[in-house]
Amino acid sequence: MKIVKTIDEVRAQVKEWRAQGLTVGLVPTMGYLHEGHASLIDASHRDNDRTVVSDFVNPMQFGPTEDLESYPRDIEHDAALVEAHGGDLIFNPEPSEMYHEGFSSFVDMTVLTQELCGLSRPVHFRGVCTVVSKLFNIVKPDRAYFGKKDAQQLAVIRHMVDDLNMDIEIIGCPIIREDDGLAKSSRNTYLNEAERKAALVLSQAISLGKDMVSNGEKNCGTIIDAMTKHINAEPLAKIDYVKIVDCATMQQIKELDRPALCAMAVYIGKTRLIDNFFTEDV
Ligand code: AMP
Repeated sequence: MKIVKTIDEVRAQVKEWRAQGLTVGLVPTMGYLHEGHASLIDASHRDNDRTVVSDFVNPMQFGPTEDLESYPRDIEHDAALVEAHGGDLIFNPEPSEMYHEGFSSFVDMTVLTQELCGLSRPVHFRGVCTVVSKLFNIVKPDRAYFGKKDAQQLAVIRHMVDDLNMDIEIIGCPIIREDDGLAKSSRNTYLNEAERKAALVLSQAISLGKDMVSNGEKNCGTIIDAMTKHINAEPLAKIDYVKIVDCATMQQIKELDRPALCAMAVYIGKTRLIDNFFTEDV
C-alpha cells in the first residue's frame, strides 16, 4: 500500500496496472476514515483488482462559515485502515496540487441540487462535482464507490456521470451505523458526551419513519410531522430539514406513490449531522 501526493504519481501507478490488464476501483473520501469508508473499500476490493482511495479535504465543497479548518485529519490512521481493507493506493494531495493558481473550471448541476443539502449548502455540490470529476480524470477508474449516507451526493454523481457520458460504473453502498444506531461519520468526533447521546434522535427518527412506511403510511406530511416531533423533543437538536423527495429528481413529494428518499440534516449543538432512508431499494 502506497501513499502518493501528486497527480503524476497516481497516473504512473494506474498506467502500470492497466498495462497488466488490471481493473481499478476508486473510493473518494475526505479522510479520517471509519467503518463506513471501510465498507466502500471492501466493496471495491471485491469488485476490482486494485483500489485507489482518495483522501482529500476538498476546500471547494465547504461554505465560508463551515468546518474546513477544524475537519479532522489523520493520514497515519487512514493508511492503516486502507491497508487492512485491501486498498492499494492512497491519493492524499495538497489543495495546491488539485487547484493550481488560476484554476477556473467547474462542474455544476442545476435541478438535483435545489433541495435538501443543496439548499442549506449552496456551494457544496459544485465543489463535490468538480472534485469528483477531477478524481475520475486522474484515476480513470472502472468503478467508483459512494455511500448512501450521502444520498443526495450519490444521486448527483450518478446524474453527472450520465449527463457527461463518463464511462464509470457508480456503486452505492449501505449506511454503516454504530451499535446504537448513529450513522458513522467523521464529524461524530465533534460531539461531546451529552451531544453524542442527543445525536441518537436522528437514527431514532429514521426508524420511526421507516416503521410508518412499512405499516402503510403514504402521506409524507404525516411521516415528516412524527419524525420532526421526535427530534424536537431533544433540547440539543435543531432541525435544518426533514424532507421526503422523489429519488430521481430530489424534488419534494406529498404522497409515497414512487420510490422516495426521506432525508434529514440536524444540528446537534454546532455539529450538523445527516441521515436518511430510502422507501424502496434503489
Ligand atoms: P466523506 O469522507 O464523509 O466525504 O465520505 C466519503 C464516502 O464515504 C462518501 O461516499 C460517503 O457517503 C461514505 N460514507 C461516509 N460515512 C458512511 C457511512 N456511515 N456508511 C456508508 N458510507 C459512508
